[in-house]
Amino acid sequence: MKSIIKFTSVFLILCLSAIALVSCAPLQVEQPENPYLAKNIILMIGDGMGAEHIEATKIYYGLDSLNMETLPYSGFVDTLAVLAGVPIVTDSAAAATAMATGHKTMTGMIGMGLDLSLPLDEVADNKIVFSNVVDIAISKGMKTGIVATKNLNDATPAAFSARGVMRYAGPEITNQQIASGIDVLMGAGYSEYYLPKIDAIRSAGYQVATTKNELLYATGNKLYAGFDSISPTSDVNLELLVTKALEILHNDNGFFAMFEGSKIDSGGHGNDIEYVVRETLSFDIAIGIAMNYVRLNPDTLLIVTADHETGGLNVPDGTTKAQLSNSMFSSGSHTTTDVPYFIWGPGANNIPENIQNTDIAEIIARAMGSTLP
Ligand SMILES: [Zn+2]
Repeated sequence: MKSIIKFTSVFLILCLSAIALVSCAPLQVEQPENPYLAKNIILMIGDGMGAEHIEATKIYYGLDSLNMETLPYSGFVDTLAVLAGVPIVTDSAAAATAMATGHKTMTGMIGMGLDLSLPLDEVADNKIVFSNVVDIAISKGMKTGIVATKNLNDATPAAFSARGVMRYAGPEITNQQIASGIDVLMGAGYSEYYLPKIDAIRSAGYQVATTKNELLYATGNKLYAGFDSISPTSDVNLELLVTKALEILHNDNGFFAMFEGSKIDSGGHGNDIEYVVRETLSFDIAIGIAMNYVRLNPDTLLIVTADHETGGLNVPDGTTKAQLSNSMFSSGSHTTTDVPYFIWGPGANNIPENIQNTDIAEIIARAMGSTLP
């Protein structure tokens, strides 16, 4: 005890005499820095994009690698959904719900699960509603943004901005998005779903942009950008939307953004190889924009992945551009094939090579210094 008192008084004297120069820092125990924490988190989802879609795109455009492939770490994601405990082929709703909430669920579900152990007439009234990574971001004072190239109330963007609904409940999903507190909402479906609610959108504090020029010159802190067509060949494409979204989302408290290349899936369903490569390239160009942001803001976690593979595409080794063909698809719908993920930023070096789609949500939550319930 004596020696401790002696040490303390000596230390106090040292501190007091040095107080004009330095604080008594040795009294504080330094916390080890959390290597997973990221200020900003960008999740980019290529809907229906498998590894073979990437191969076909490189062959078609004569590229050695796509932007996404140059991210420092990569692996594969199990995309399966679950029905009464049994793994099943997923749809965009269940897959996006898994990535947004950390819960595997049934196809058709947005941010919810059903308790199938209940009597049938009680199931609908007892749905299990999941919270998601956007909720965490908002609770931490981060800005948030959701961008899609198909309808903004389609399954993937819906899973990050609505909950407790079925995927085709368009107007209800739209209402939830308007009330969500999300800062940036961009996507198609403007005339059908958003124009009828444009007063409510403005009342919720959103600046509204429905043309390329309105988008370019928008200065609001909250922006709804709605269009009827977003494609590589239309006035507004994903590259432009991602550029604008990042401009608005950039702030001192950080942000979470989900950017979806929504139409790769459509090319897969249609067994249309040219459509697939055009959409995959457009998605990859937008990834290049996000990568530039990470270069300037290294405290950003960038995750690129897909919700599922569409079309059962198989591009044999050595295929030339002339040999690329619609006959290389083996399915008109989604398959069980794992999809690739590519990741860059804090903690990216510690992700296992093979993960579940629910792990994407856990990785995002961890980067926010949080966990999902
Ligand atoms: Zn999908």
